[in-house]
Amino acid sequence: MEVPFVDLKAQYRSIKPEIDRAIKDILDTTRFVGGPPVSAFETAFAEFAGAKHCIGVANGTDAIYAVLRALGIGPGDEVITVANSWISTSETISQTGAKPVFVDIDEFCHIDPLAIERRINRRTRAVIPVHLYGLPAAIEEIAKVCANNGLHLVEDCAQAHGAEFNGRPVGTFGIAGTFSFYPGKNLGAYGDAGAVITSDDALASRVRMFCNHGALQKHKHEIEGINSRLDSLQAAVLTAKLPHLPGWTNARRRVAESYHEQLAGVDGLHLPATRPGSTHVYHLFVIRTPHRDALMAHLRNAGVATQIHYPTALPLLPAYSYLGYGAEDVPRAARYQGEILSLPMYPELTDDMIRHVSDSIKAFQGGIDS
Ligand SMILES: *Cc1c(COP(=O)(O)O)cnc(C)c1O
Repeated sequence: MEVPFVDLKAQYRSIKPEIDRAIKDILDTTRFVGGPPVSAFETAFAEFAGAKHCIGVANGTDAIYAVLRALGIGPGDEVITVANSWISTSETISQTGAKPVFVDIDEFCHIDPLAIERRINRRTRAVIPVHLYGLPAAIEEIAKVCANNGLHLVEDCAQAHGAEFNGRPVGTFGIAGTFSFYPGKNLGAYGDAGAVITSDDALASRVRMFCNHGALQKHKHEIEGINSRLDSLQAAVLTAKLPHLPGWTNARRRVAESYHEQLAGVDGLHLPATRPGSTHVYHLFVIRTPHRDALMAHLRNAGVATQIHYPTALPLLPAYSYLGYGAEDVPRAARYQGEILSLPMYPELTDDMIRHVSDSIKAFQGGIDS
């Protein structure tokens, strides 16, 4: 049996008439940039995400960059972020001219709040935690550290649409939250797309201005900005998909529950735990095993596609060799990068597929023990 890592076709088939109509409506109006389709999505997503404002942008990377620039972060500043994430989280810090400062992860693969405090100095301006895999980071503790030290808190929510901590949605604990709608994300466009959420009126307006060539009205450029807008076709697709997101999230949770039931107690396998007080939206289902590479090969032979998020911790990538980090600086991230494995996870996974993945893992682990 073949089990792909994700299956975007299955989802498209399940909502094809709605998507096709949404796209056709845009083609008929030929209003491709801005206008009512974009503001309709921004309004709907702000409400979904629990924020006053949503600004649609071209992708989730620009969302982070725009917030940092709108906060005035630049050369001479430092921004603290986490050792295990997608490179967008740190490359946007460098793009502003500031210096990324990496700290180690906790047992959930999120930024360790205690490690943040040790790296704060007079140049530190902001902290970017990542709600990696769809699980909230220790966001209340992180918010406290930021408040005590006068730092901006910018949440990278690219993998965590709709996740909550103590009943409050991610992205609303700091000054801004950033989202990606890359096709494979929990809410995915049919191309690149992203958004910033904030309840701060001034920041919302600065982000919107920055992403539209520094102008809120045509030809009134108050600053130099960039061209990073959510286009209308993507906005229409996202508006059509948003009402389905809670159902898809529940389906992801059912998949996770089945994996947990079927893999509980398998020797040498660490299953993803949920941080107390939080809800998990399972963008990824990440297990850990010291035999990761062999298990990955075994699953490939059984028709099961897996991935690694991420194979090299950010500070240990060649891109950051100039900063001089070693494994001893981020010991947990350095250890986990050789043990983590992301199993197939998407709402349309069938019971048979989940069973096949679990049975294949059990067969492999059984072979190791004997
Ligand atoms: C996907 C992702 C991003 C970037 O989003 P794009 O839309 O691909 O630019 C940023 N941070 C994390 C953690 C991501 O997973």
